[in-house]
This record gives sequence, C-alpha cells and structure tokens, in this order.
Amino acid sequence: MSDSVSPALRQLVIERAAGHCEYCLIHQDVSPYAHETDHLVARKHGGQTVAENLALACLACNRRKGSDLTTIDPLTGDVVPLFNPRVQLWQDHFAFKGAYVIGLTTIGRGTVFLLGMNVPERVAIRKALMRENLYP
Ligand SMILES: [Zn+2]
Repeated sequence: MSDSVSPALRQLVIERAAGHCEYCLIHQDVSPYAHETDHLVARKHGGQTVAENLALACLACNRRKGSDLTTIDPLTGDVVPLFNPRVQLWQDHFAFKGAYVIGLTTIGRGTVFLLGMNVPERVAIRKALMRENLYP
C-alpha cells in the first residue's frame, strides 16, 4: 500500500469534510495554509492510507496532533482517546463559547487541549472570521 494520498483520495477527503478542518471546523478557503489529510491512526502505528483512516485537518490541528492517538483530559487527568471524526460526531464532543471551542466530554476536552484549539492567535483568527460570518 502506498503511503501517499492520491489526488482522488485527497479530493474525497476534502469533499466529505465540505472543506472544513474536522477538528476545529475552520474552512480551508479562509485558512492561512492549505488543509492536510490527517491519518487518524498514523502510518507508524499501522494506519493505512484509506478514506476510513483519513480526516481533513488544518495545519495548526494536524501539526499538534502528529501521530498521537490519545491525550490527557485536563479536567480529570485521565488518558483519553483523541476525537475521531470517522466514528464520532463533532457536536457530541465540542461546542462553541464565542470563538472558543469547548470540550463537552473527556474526548472533547483532551482534543481541544492537545490540538491547542484555544491558543490566543487561533481564537483571534476565529473572532475575526466570525465578525465576517466566515466561521464556523
Ligand atoms: Zn483545525
């Protein structure tokens, strides 16, 4: 199996996500960098380059996620899996409070924390996009 994502597979991932990062929901048209195809289970853990193992992710989310599969829930200190957009619904784990992404569950809180969704510069970008009705 090839490690690279073919143009057709990348297009499928983009269309399935309607162009939004599947973690923070920023649209690639308003993101400063092109979104990437994230391997939910990284190749080094045996994850395959198939549609079921790929998600569309903005550069900020994907860089922070790396090959991680789990994180720590900052509220409970428990080791928890990261959000998986192929088998979980965003609204079950996250909500917005203004321009902040809030984790509703252990998975949501851990994913918000690990991916740095609420670091000041990202919140500032979301606030600016919200003023223009470009987010979420
Ligand atoms: Zn993102």
